[in-house]
Amino acid sequence: MSVSEAKIKRFIGWAEGQGGESVPLTNEYEIARIKHKGGTFVLYVNKKGGLSFSDSAARRAWAAFLEGKAWPMNVRHKRSKTEAKVARLRERDGDACFFCGDPFSLQNPPTLEHLLSIVHGGSNVIANLALACEPCNQEVGSMDVADKIKFRDQKRRSHDQLDRTA
Ligand SMILES: [Zn+2]
Repeated sequence: MSVSEAKIKRFIGWAEGQGGESVPLTNEYEIARIKHKGGTFVLYVNKKGGLSFSDSAARRAWAAFLEGKAWPMNVRHKRSKTEAKVARLRERDGDACFFCGDPFSLQNPPTLEHLLSIVHGGSNVIANLALACEPCNQEVGSMDVADKIKFRDQKRRSHDQLDRTA
């Protein structure tokens, strides 16, 4: 099973939406390391691009992600760090996609977007984060920050035009 970087990025966004926390990788074979209620699991990719899992939790989470199911990961009643960040971002930016401006809903849930991506040295500080709908999150992929801002301007402009013609 070969897996794309974009899909892993979506998986991490999904896991964070479930209350998991993406933590730094520790070697070149790891592609995702997620802290969850039962500990930490890891997804690995081998030299042939195949995916493997640290344990059954990782396997179950991946299966739930593929099936679009919920797999709640935070056990504490206290809000997870990620949930707290999502709440702060919703307060800062409103309840809509940072890029296209579409409102979030159950059918259009937010994903966490790192404006400067982690692979490029970005961090989890709130100033580097935004909430994006999944289609936009996928579209911006590994763009640099300047291209992401351009993408946002284009999305917003085409929305304005639609509003005017409507
Ligand atoms: Zn969007």
